[in-house]
Amino acid sequence: MSESLPGQCEYPDCCSPRPQIALIDKAVCIGCTLCIQACPVDAIVGCAKQLHAVIESLCTGCECCLPPCPVECIRMELPVPDSPRTGADAARMRYEWRNERLARDAAERAERLAQAHRARAAPQESAEKAEAAKKAAIAAAQARARAKRGEGLLLNR
Ligand code: SF4
Ligand code: SF4
Repeated sequence: MSESLPGQCEYPDCCSPRPQIALIDKAVCIGCTLCIQACPVDAIVGCAKQLHAVIESLCTGCECCLPPCPVECIRMELPVPDSPRTGADAARMRYEWRNERLARDAAERAERLAQAHRARAAPQESAEKAEAAKKAAIAAAQARARAKRGEGLLLNR
């Protein structure tokens, strides 16, 4: 029998190799958050300009976080043997939660933009209405004045 690789089942036909997990080099990470945005299962924690870290038990080994990292400080490694790992169902659930959260965030952002747009448009609309009312009042006053002049001419005849 051929010798199995570290982290690989000794029976190659029975299961696939254990996926590697992502590890972030703390000394190089610049805290840009791009890897957080790329991780489909929210397995990376950190905030802007702070060191980021991978929650190893949640990492599925998909490697989606590697390409966006501008300083290439994420590498894939085999996890420690018998380390707790999230199963496929839990990973899928986390992926769906993430998609729901992103959709909710996008809807909230769109609503905030629409509100800001309405708030900007409202003063302009009311100024236009006030201007139209002013013009109507002037036109009515002019009509009344013309009517009065007409009556005066008739009386003077
Ligand atoms: S390898 Fe995949 S699951 Fe793991 S941290 Fe990177 S993007 Fe997330
Ligand atoms: S993408 Fe790279 S540099 Fe940016 S936060 Fe993630 S690990 Fe750090």
